Amino acid sequence: MGGLRDLAGLLLVGLMLTGLMACQAPTTDSPTTESVAEAPVDGTAAGQQAAQEPLLITDGTVVTMDAVDTIIEDGAVAVVNGKIVAVGPASELAAKYASARRVSADGGIIMPGLINTHTHVPMVLFRGLADDLKLMDWLENHIFPAEAKHVDEEFVRWGTRLACLEMLRGGTTTFVDMYFFEDAIAEEADRCGMRAIVGESLIDFPTPDNKTWDAAVAYTRDFVTRWQDHPRITPAVAPHAPYTVSADHLKEAHALATELDTPMVIHLAEDRAEIERVTKATGYSPVN
Ligand SMILES: [Zn+2]
Repeated sequence: MGGLRDLAGLLLVGLMLTGLMACQAPTTDSPTTESVAEAPVDGTAAGQQAAQEPLLITDGTVVTMDAVDTIIEDGAVAVVNGKIVAVGPASELAAKYASARRVSADGGIIMPGLINTHTHVPMVLFRGLADDLKLMDWLENHIFPAEAKHVDEEFVRWGTRLACLEMLRGGTTTFVDMYFFEDAIAEEADRCGMRAIVGESLIDFPTPDNKTWDAAVAYTRDFVTRWQDHPRITPAVAPHAPYTVSADHLKEAHALATELDTPMVIHLAEDRAEIERVTKATGYSPVN
């Protein structure tokens, strides 16, 4: 059971369902969206209280992903103070945590949450806009123009809400994102109870929210400072790619991440055309 300790801190599907139910529209929105909210999670007093309450996830098959791939039919997971404290047969845990709030997995799988290591979550709203193209054609002829035309904070909020719902339904509880209006993405991910590493895109040309490099750096500094102590949201410094950010600016971004003691995320060596472009311009591959 020692390997199960590794599960601590990861959300399970049962928790994921709780998060799905809890996706909460911001108070500035219309009454129809507010009515979706059923149980606030973190960020509210009620949410904090719910997070502390002992929780028992039952009625499912526990897929532990421990070192020996233990699977427990009719298993349960107990969570206290936001940490997994026990995993075992449902009958055993039900007796031990009799007063815990119950969440039924409804015959499904109870497992560690999946992690999506690269997203631009609001882009779900561009789904189907341009598919199956080479990276540079897709980016420069379709996506960058569409973003310049359509992306604002409202677009980002609604896209993030949809993306979070879809991720949670599919078992993803953590994502690593890089986009614009990243503060809004952090807020929406938090409302859904998700974990996220989120970075405001730093690019050498004007973006939907920051018209200059310096403005984007200032935004990033404020953004990182605001979210740095959050238990589930990790702010990052996010220079877009070696083909959209100059060498000097890449160094500045790295220095900023080091100074703020926060992760840096970047696109790197995405396809052959990028590797050729960067190698021709610098004499080095994107990785070296
Ligand atoms: Zn990307």
